[in-house]
Amino acid sequence: MGSMHTNLEESGEGLIRLAAFYAERARGGCALTVTGGFAPNRAGRMSGPAAYIESEADVADHVPIPKAVQKEGGRILLQLLHAGRYGYHDEIVAPSPIRSPINKDIPRELSEAEIEETIADFARAAKLAQEAGYDGVELMGSEGYLVNEFTAPHTNKREDRWGGSFENRARFPLEMIKAVRAATDPGFIIMYRLSVLDIVEDGSPFEEVVALAKMTEAAGVDILNSGVGWHEARIPTIAQAVPRGGWTWATARLKGTVGVPLVGSNRINTPEVAERIIAEGEADMVSMARPFLADADFMAKARDGRPDDINTCIACNQACLDNYFVGAPASCLVNPRAARETELNWGPADAPMKIAVVGAGVAGLACATVAAERGHAVTLFEAADAIGGQFALARAIPGKEEFDETLRYYRGRIAATGVDLKLGAEAAASDLGGFDETVIACGVFPRVPDIDGIDHPMVMTYEQLLSGAREPGRRVAVVGAGGIGVDVAVHLVERGHKSHRDVSAFRETWGVDGDAASPAPAHDVVLLQRSDGRMGAGPGKSTGWVHRLVLLRAQVEMIAGARYRRIDDDGLHITVGGEDRVIACDSVVLCAGQEPRDDLVGALESAGASVHVIGGAKLARELDAQRAIEEGVRLAASL
Ligand code: NAP
Ligand code: SF4
Repeated sequence: MGSMHTNLEESGEGLIRLAAFYAERARGGCALTVTGGFAPNRAGRMSGPAAYIESEADVADHVPIPKAVQKEGGRILLQLLHAGRYGYHDEIVAPSPIRSPINKDIPRELSEAEIEETIADFARAAKLAQEAGYDGVELMGSEGYLVNEFTAPHTNKREDRWGGSFENRARFPLEMIKAVRAATDPGFIIMYRLSVLDIVEDGSPFEEVVALAKMTEAAGVDILNSGVGWHEARIPTIAQAVPRGGWTWATARLKGTVGVPLVGSNRINTPEVAERIIAEGEADMVSMARPFLADADFMAKARDGRPDDINTCIACNQACLDNYFVGAPASCLVNPRAARETELNWGPADAPMKIAVVGAGVAGLACATVAAERGHAVTLFEAADAIGGQFALARAIPGKEEFDETLRYYRGRIAATGVDLKLGAEAAASDLGGFDETVIACGVFPRVPDIDGIDHPMVMTYEQLLSGAREPGRRVAVVGAGGIGVDVAVHLVERGHKSHRDVSAFRETWGVDGDAASPAPAHDVVLLQRSDGRMGAGPGKSTGWVHRLVLLRAQVEMIAGARYRRIDDDGLHITVGGEDRVIACDSVVLCAGQEPRDDLVGALESAGASVHVIGGAKLARELDAQRAIEEGVRLAASL
């Protein structure tokens, strides 16, 4: 399991929760885990309160983690990460005083004496990790953090023995590895996360990557893990836009150059993809991080020949990285128990009941399957002829085909837990009389705004578009630029493209090996919102930039501050900046938010039923799948 920072690393209480989190994954068959990043000194921390391990006083807090993992038969490495110029605090340091494009502060240049001290700090931190019981350390040498800043000409402009020639730029990691080796016992594992591809201008050329790999092995590294792309790189490395296993070719280039095992990583989310990478010899080991958040038993299910039972990571980043970026504890959209193992638990119900769940979107699916797992007799009513609701609709968006995996997982859970699924069954209040509890999870319907001409034949809802019920013309105006408006715009411009499924097409589209060459957009799109300000703020920090780049490259016009006046044969008439304008278009797609589908609630409550409302039916505004699934699971755990 690769390193995944959870925001629990910062306190003793958080480390107790992490012990339970990692132990559950070791129990589920994960052989070797790497913790989130811990800084070897204060200057190296990610942010003000961030995690570090720098003195004997820190050891006791860590002891429960390796102890819990090893008890389950796993092994665990502490990741030592010096954030360098990526830190968000006022003491950031770097080889050279060059600001990163993703940080407003200029780092202070390390003096030669401070460089030596930092190396000694890495050695001390590794020794402390050994004292705490960890099986080894991962030294973070990639993703544009301090060590990587030394190796790449992009950020190392020094003229002393730590900069200039390749030998000088490689000095920092090599001295660090030697110092860590000298400070720890021979059996203590040292994994080095090598930047196999920097994806920044003036990054390390491939010959230097190979040379560094060989030198780190000679300096005492046992395993080489792969890091791909600096955080400031503008090519996606883990988002849904990346095809499965889309970066292991970069690790494969190193095969045969070193004797130590090479680890492949990034967007590996099924046993089949992992198996292919090993079988084809692209890497000797496979590292996954998010897939272990999605399912703690990933390995056990793979080993037992039950891959269809795996709750697959859909690469959405919504509850893991996006939570991390806003300072909230990470979890998982498809598995709200991730990193909540000490508080969100359930067992058999004390008194099994008859429960009706109305709506088989993800809120209803999560609620019905957990309730049935606890022994309740659950009937799940769904008006459509398939499960999934809005989630099933979203699978038409490029990259969101991954949502199919979640629906496959729930189909398996329905069968395994004995939920009585009734498809094509629009439940009326009169159908729900014989149940002890009723859960309304009917979801939402698209809002149709009050615009003159809204009944014009060129107008369709996003639901009609994505379900395939309506076909858009060449020129499309998208009304509303929230999460769905942006998704719809991406869907329209990327229709028929395959860069999110095919590695060669991905490399070509994103310019991995040269200039970016996106295929021509399938539609001419104008994206509009009424409010002023930034467009496309819907999706989170870790993926929003990917969508915005796709739209910019496809020359999607984005209009904020629009007032919609009318729709007629000429197109969409708006006023913007005090000027009247006509957006000439063949289709208008409404992405103007949703309304809750909650009409059953009043009737049931009047009849004295015990009713619970979850997901979009409870609150359509800011509806997202993360909240829907979590509400479903938490309610089912409490019934
Ligand atoms: P949303 O993000 O709230 O956006 C609704 C859009 O409709 C806004 O652009 C709003 O902008 C516009 N709007 C609202 N009322 C309108 C009206 N009466 N007339 C015209 N325009 C109107 O909601 P959403 O796009 O429907 O998405 C639903 C939820 O799913 C959100 O929480 C979203 O974050 C989530 N989601 C997430 C992702 C993801 O990838 N993470 C993808 C899709 C959806 P103005 O008021 O400025 O016009
Ligand atoms: Fe994967 Fe999304 Fe869960 Fe993150 S939140 S682990 S990306 S499914």
